Amino acid sequence: MKLYNTMSKTKEEFVPLEEGKVKMYVCGPTVYNYIHIGNARPMIVFDTVRRYFEYKGYDVNFVSNFTDVDDKIIKKANEEGVSADEISKRYIEECKKDMEGMNVKPATKNPLATEEIGGMIAMIQTLIEKGFAYEKNGTVYYRTRQFKEYGKLSHKNLDDLRSGNRSLLVSGADEKEDPLDFVLWKPKKEGEPAWKSPWSEGRPGWHIECSEMSKKYLGEQIDIHAGGEDLVFPHHENEIAQSEAANGKGFSKYWLHNAFLNIDNKKMSKSLGNFFTVREISEKYDLQILRFFMLSAHYRSPLNFSAELMEAAKNGLERIVTAAQNLKFLMGTTKTTQMSETEKETFAKTQEFVDTFERAMDDDFNTADAISAVFELVKYANTTASGESSEEYLQKLYELLVKLTDVLGIIVEKKEELLDADIEELIAQRQAARKERNFARADEIRAELLEKGIVLEDTREGVKWKRA
Ligand code: AMP
Ligand code: ZN
Repeated sequence: MKLYNTMSKTKEEFVPLEEGKVKMYVCGPTVYNYIHIGNARPMIVFDTVRRYFEYKGYDVNFVSNFTDVDDKIIKKANEEGVSADEISKRYIEECKKDMEGMNVKPATKNPLATEEIGGMIAMIQTLIEKGFAYEKNGTVYYRTRQFKEYGKLSHKNLDDLRSGNRSLLVSGADEKEDPLDFVLWKPKKEGEPAWKSPWSEGRPGWHIECSEMSKKYLGEQIDIHAGGEDLVFPHHENEIAQSEAANGKGFSKYWLHNAFLNIDNKKMSKSLGNFFTVREISEKYDLQILRFFMLSAHYRSPLNFSAELMEAAKNGLERIVTAAQNLKFLMGTTKTTQMSETEKETFAKTQEFVDTFERAMDDDFNTADAISAVFELVKYANTTASGESSEEYLQKLYELLVKLTDVLGIIVEKKEELLDADIEELIAQRQAARKERNFARADEIRAELLEKGIVLEDTREGVKWKRA
């Protein structure tokens, strides 16, 4: 199994630190709003990576943090007049709902930055003792010059970077020894959440979070560290500098980075305002379609979001789901139970699709080619399964289809779930029925919705609904 390591810029054979186990850390989102579908790309991609390792029999310890203390969270809290904690808790819950909708498996552990401050302080202290960090007026900085391998992940020319940032030093506006030094701890400003530390009452820098949480939940050395490609520099470069200096060991064996999800060939981002939230998309499409769309491209290729591609993903997914449903239907009607000798031979040929699927996934998780293999299997199932097939043959085909699509996190069992837009439409119809005093019809709609797990509540402000 080969994976592309950003560190070596080559595809390397995967050799775990410990046999049969994978220790994997994925940098999670900063929670100050609903996540957008750009944020969803690393979630879907690295969940698929995890699923493939599990398919191969590895025991995966998957840790992904939530950054729940940050300038943007504080800003949002001030705008709403609530605490930063309320904002982060709210959006962690919303994010988890979106992840469930995208069939992203829950992590082994989702550490929160605010719950790990003690460990971060201890790590900063170690860095100071070892000469890798220094304090100035309550702020602690990392001394990048001290870490000889600084820049090894991002392959940047540090002298160019330094000269680009020199103005900061010359102006005296900065108290750093080197323009590339970065903050490990900063004193609080008025109204900000803060924790006591030996240097000042304040809060940790962003990078130290991941170094500490990765160490605490996975150990000093891990197999895979992953995130979007914008995290290579400075975030991951800084994590390496912190972890390796503090622990005296290599940090992560493999560094995986997904390319951006773009819109009109520009990175989708909150700051550019060119984003769709996962929640918005869920009002129009089943999130399985979003997942299928994301996996239709290789994770290291930029992917442009468009309505056409979503429609193509919808049709593709529909083909797979229909094939699965057809197999189920035939299973319910067939008269023969056991596979015939000919069927055994016919089934043996499906191994070819499994091999192609695994070859694709073994080649740095080429999900696009893996999906093609699934389509080949679908075609084969459609042409070889019929009313004459035995139940065993149909069952085996079905199970194989489920096994492969499950690696991609795609559920082939059709959900009878209503989209938000359908629900709103039914509620509008119910209101119209009530207006016409057709209460029987209104009740019928309420019952119909309830059957599908939608609970209505009539309030002064109108009808509210929720999924039960
Ligand atoms: P953030 O909340 O901005 O720290 O982002 C959380 C994760 O989403 C990080 O791994 C980012 O690299 C990733 N990310 C943000 N925007 C995009 C995008 N447009 N395409 C792909 N990944 C993204
Ligand atoms: Zn991180």
